[in-house]
Amino acid sequence: MKKVMLMAVAILFSAATVFAASPTTAASDTTKSKKVKPAKVQYTCTMHPEVLSDKPGKCPKCGMELVKKEPAKKKAEKMKM
Ligand SMILES: [Zn+2]
Repeated sequence: MKKVMLMAVAILFSAATVFAASPTTAASDTTKSKKVKPAKVQYTCTMHPEVLSDKPGKCPKCGMELVKKEPAKKKAEKMKM
């Protein structure tokens, strides 16, 4: 009977080790994804929405300065489709 108890303790101990280790992995994962900025800023021409650039500059079609594209605009595009 004592042997069974010892085994149960051993299983509990190893299980506790696994449980203690997994949150650490998840936490570091969350920190990693938090570091990466999900919001991608894009620049577009007010006259030519099809013109997209990840850097500020000028529109190749009309020479107007590109403006920051807001994420809300993306939603409207989706609705259009
Ligand atoms: Zn333009």
